[in-house]
Amino acid sequence: MKVALRDDDTCYFTAPETLERVYAGIWERIPVCLATVPFAIGYPRAGIPEAHWHDGEAFALERNTALVPALRDLAAKRRVTIALHGYTHQDFSNGFEFQAAPDLPRRVAEGRAYLERTLGRRISIFVPPHNALSREGLAAVSRAGLNLLGSFLSFHPRHRRWEPRTPLNWWRIRQYRAQTGRGRADHFVYPHVLRYGHHAEFGCHSVIPGTTVDELTRGFEEARRAGGHFCLATHYWEVDETLKNVIVRVLDHAARYADVRFVAAEELFA
Ligand SMILES: [Zn+2]
Repeated sequence: MKVALRDDDTCYFTAPETLERVYAGIWERIPVCLATVPFAIGYPRAGIPEAHWHDGEAFALERNTALVPALRDLAAKRRVTIALHGYTHQDFSNGFEFQAAPDLPRRVAEGRAYLERTLGRRISIFVPPHNALSREGLAAVSRAGLNLLGSFLSFHPRHRRWEPRTPLNWWRIRQYRAQTGRGRADHFVYPHVLRYGHHAEFGCHSVIPGTTVDELTRGFEEARRAGGHFCLATHYWEVDETLKNVIVRVLDHAARYADVRFVAAEELFA
């Protein structure tokens, strides 16, 4: 059983010391997949100075001259891997970036090339900003051959371009829902990789303020019973001591099993 950890929103606004505070003691045990924004445009959230919430300026990652060498060093030590997390992560009036931006294929291609060049690492995973992805967004990511780590993507054929695997994977999701006694509205994370023609997808368990060790270990145990895998997803900018402790305790729980391997998120798709 593979266990992985994803962290979203590393970008120009990220201080390397913040990542260090959150992941010291963790990334020695498990590589953290940093879903990184190449050209961040601010929006209202903790950790982004209010002056940039609405100014629309795009900040290339390399303008943070402390962060880029820190990320290169962390990646060389295998403490982090790098995924693509949108292009600017900006919010549009009619939706989030990968629902509303007009030029999604360009954003995927240029964002990926920029991160690969700037950080010297190959990118194989895309994480949609706010976990929101339109049909067009999904098509752009799939055409680029990037795998998707989501948190609550829809697998319904209505939300996807048709390809032979779409109905088959939808059927698998429905089977799983029925086997676990869930109704249509019940939330769950499907614990297996879903493969499509040009990409694969895997769902993560969100760790946000208020998430408990109990909920997560229940999710882990369910994935385990199903013969699946398990990935946590969080945002470093909302991880305080309490939440860090939640992550550590869930990892401790998983580590008790001899067949559990802590892996980089990229390995979930291997
Ligand atoms: Zn994000």
